[in-house]
Amino acid sequence: MAVPRNRLSNSRKNTKRSHHAKKPKNLHTCVKCRLPILPHTMCQACGSYGERTVVESV
Ligand SMILES: [Zn+2]
Repeated sequence: MAVPRNRLSNSRKNTKRSHHAKKPKNLHTCVKCRLPILPHTMCQACGSYGERTVVESV
């Protein structure tokens, strides 16, 4: 395994980690009930995926 030759300075370390911030979730809206859902997932509220109903809600 490669081993770093020199110690990373605090400045270099912090500059490297400046890109590590967590981005907000990219939410889409359900076509049927207009609630925010994760993309490429079934809607938990009405059980639809895109246009069609996958799971019938009780
Ligand atoms: Zn829905």
